[in-house]
Amino acid sequence: MSVDERLVHDIVKKVMASMQLTGSVAGMHGVFKDMNDAINASIEAQKVVRNLTLDQREKIIAAIRRKTHENAEIIANMGVSETGMGNVGDKILKHKLTADKTPGTEDIKTIAWSGDRGLTLVEMGPFGVIGAITPATNPSETVICNSIGMIAGGNTVVFNPHPNAKKTTIYTINMINEASLEAGGPDNVAVTVEVPTMETSAIMMKHPQIPLLVATGGPGVVTAVLSSGKRAIGAGAGNPPAFVDNTADVRKAARDIVNGCTFDNNLPCIAEKEIVAMDSIADELMDYMISENGCYLASPEIQDKLVRTVINEKGALNRKCVGRDARTLLSMVGVSVGPEIRCIVFEGKKEHPLITTELMMPILGMVRVKTFDEGVETAVWLEHGNRHSAHIHSKNVDNITKYAKAIDTAILVKNGPSYAALGFGGEGYCTFTIASRTGEGLTSAQSFTKRRRCTMSDSLCIR
Ligand code: NAD
Repeated sequence: MSVDERLVHDIVKKVMASMQLTGSVAGMHGVFKDMNDAINASIEAQKVVRNLTLDQREKIIAAIRRKTHENAEIIANMGVSETGMGNVGDKILKHKLTADKTPGTEDIKTIAWSGDRGLTLVEMGPFGVIGAITPATNPSETVICNSIGMIAGGNTVVFNPHPNAKKTTIYTINMINEASLEAGGPDNVAVTVEVPTMETSAIMMKHPQIPLLVATGGPGVVTAVLSSGKRAIGAGAGNPPAFVDNTADVRKAARDIVNGCTFDNNLPCIAEKEIVAMDSIADELMDYMISENGCYLASPEIQDKLVRTVINEKGALNRKCVGRDARTLLSMVGVSVGPEIRCIVFEGKKEHPLITTELMMPILGMVRVKTFDEGVETAVWLEHGNRHSAHIHSKNVDNITKYAKAIDTAILVKNGPSYAALGFGGEGYCTFTIASRTGEGLTSAQSFTKRRRCTMSDSLCIR
């Protein structure tokens, strides 16, 4: 460990310990014991934010970006240490990506018509106070990304985070409010409670002054917000297949797929979760994954042990395995490998539990198909109708088009690792809330605004 790494490690230990010892987080901005107090503080802050100029909002956002860079290492360490998931190096990259590529106020566009009868604008205004529920898998990334977009839109936000990531979330929310205060904005632009529970979540969801809910997580929470009777944005689960056809650059496909799959130990919902490969290139693909990309080929016996270890009797994921690296997962089934092993691979039927389940672990099962059409059908089946993310490696535009139409996902990466869709090695902006179920796709500031028409009759047209 270098001197710098040791310093970060010590800071993280101290922050986590101080939260543990006091049992409270006194002195942290935006953190309340009671959910109703948190919501009231957010309502007061929104009265200020909605009257800020766009330039003032941008100043707050710029401070959040800067502080995220400054704290990336600490928050990444906190996230891994609190949740036991992911890896610090990739989490640092995710925080920097969030800071750099989450859109701000520039994302909110005005539409205008002008003519003989005057001028009409559609301007995007704030909803007010937004209630956001965040996952354990990208806890701080989601909080930062949501906060930037929501504040850009003139809102404030109340978070009910995953209980397993509450300390990391509290640290992040404090940082966001410090940024706002430093930039001349109000305190409590983002708030939460010391102990988030289903009860605090219910208070937030039912509160009459919260008109919009944003849920990032599995199917349970998305269904909960969609049943709330309020407008809701639901960013739900995926199980993204990576399809490799017989025209692909197979060597590159192997590298891209393993890189995407192993990023932050497979925690991102968009990450490659299984492979569909055409028969004619399947052996070559597997060879490249093993010989050049640090993959361990699991025998049928090891696959069985993995199934029993990572999935419990009720068919649910063993939380101790989610977001763990390949080496740790293998050690849980009695296999010892070196640090060069990044991913576990095998070939199986599409119904194999390690293939059909959204594992969020660097385990990649490969399903072999005879024809392109069988591949499309298999990938669509494996995506389970989530309409979330899918990937393809192909040089044939007709094949790509056919696949894209059939799988109909919010994200489709062609000939690259999945994270290219988040603007990491690809064009476009970043988000950690991909609204697959409700159709907003990759959310950004404009997703958190409402359309307001403003008409001037018979004037202001100077054409
Ligand atoms: P999770 O569903 O266990 O928890 C997500 C959040 O929802 C947590 O804050 C949790 O406390 C809350 N929650 C769960 N059930 C709830 C209910 N019935 N009512 C109210 N709140 C509830 O998910 P997780 O393990 O934290 O995250 C992983 C899952 O989230 C994966 O399925 C992944 O695909 C998905 N995810 C999706 C996106 C996206 O942008 N679409 C992003 C990240 C994660």
